[in-house]
Amino acid sequence: MSLKPNGNYRNLKESYLFFHIARKVEEYRKEHPDLPLYRLGIGDVSRPLCDAAIRALHAAVNDQAEEKTFRGYTPECGIPEFRNAVAGYYARRNVTPDPEEIFVSSGASDELGDILDLFDASSPALITQPAYPAYVDASVMAGREVRFLTAKPENDFLPLPSDDLEADLIYLCSPSNPTGAVYNREQLQKWVDYANGRGAVILFDAAYEAFVEGNLPHSIFEVPGAETCAIEICSLSKTAGFTGTRLGYTVIPKALERDGMNLNAMWVRNRTTKTNGISYILQKAGIAVFTDEGLLQIRESIDHYKENARVLMNALDECGIKYWGGKNAPYIWMACPNGMKSWDFFDLMLNEIQVIGTPGEGFGSAGEGFFRLSSFGNPEDTKIAAERMKLLLVR
Ligand code: PLP
Repeated sequence: MSLKPNGNYRNLKESYLFFHIARKVEEYRKEHPDLPLYRLGIGDVSRPLCDAAIRALHAAVNDQAEEKTFRGYTPECGIPEFRNAVAGYYARRNVTPDPEEIFVSSGASDELGDILDLFDASSPALITQPAYPAYVDASVMAGREVRFLTAKPENDFLPLPSDDLEADLIYLCSPSNPTGAVYNREQLQKWVDYANGRGAVILFDAAYEAFVEGNLPHSIFEVPGAETCAIEICSLSKTAGFTGTRLGYTVIPKALERDGMNLNAMWVRNRTTKTNGISYILQKAGIAVFTDEGLLQIRESIDHYKENARVLMNALDECGIKYWGGKNAPYIWMACPNGMKSWDFFDLMLNEIQVIGTPGEGFGSAGEGFFRLSSFGNPEDTKIAAERMKLLLVR
């Protein structure tokens, strides 16, 4: 018999979203080479790394140049100094993970898929939709059934478990990409109680936690009982601009067990088999981010993005357009005006005012009729885009 490839890949839907956007923009640019474009579609950061991280990177490179300070392989689950630094970051919010519950990673995307190794493929995944596309695709690649729970205006884009819900592995993203919605403590408690009651596990994607304001939870571990039912996946990508540098962390409590198996111990086994650690140089930069100095510096970038978000939200307010997010997240999720479909609205914005956003339908069918604006762009472009939106959309 010949080798069989993983047939689950046949079940993946083509991911047209960013390809389709890039093609439409390229065609428009060719037809109108003199018109500037205003990009509010990107999910990537635009500000450079903070000074504390840059200095740590340079120092770590110098370490690698000298025999005395040179480091070879690092421990697979993270160098202790990095795990302690992340634990210290949690402790600022009175969450006190044991450093051995923190695992270094190359970023959240890698982990969102890799973590599925811990669960039998027969356990379905529940995904609140619209959603970051990796949840669905990683689950399908692993041969897992995917079920959806719809995030919609009626539930403030924050669906909650109901008595008849059957879910074993639950992806939650708060603050959400794309809707910017954030679960409060009471709402997260409902998910935690549901998961503990049923023996389910929550995969909590906290990639945008640094944007949360006020008393809303940054981490699922701020909610009692989460240590027996949740894994948190986070990264420095949006917290500290590490999208191209690549560094993240995953928290798996030692108290998390299913069917007599300890998930923390299983992940140690997984990492020590499937990785040889993460770059010493990058972990040193991560440690610098979590110092007082680093945290102050990353705050400046987050505030800078929040100012962009304010400019966009003010414009939508003036136009009388309903939107969600923007306050505790870098994304604003707006209702397309006059019941337009997301791709039609994308075309309108591109053709009439040269502003590029992201059609909600690209995050799943539940996103139809909505449109995502990103605050990660440059402030001048964001201001011009906001003025243009006002001219186009004011009622
Ligand atoms: N999770 C969400 C919700 C995201 O939006 C992103 C990136 O945009 C990621 C995870 C991936 O982040 P990373 O750069 O750490 O892989």
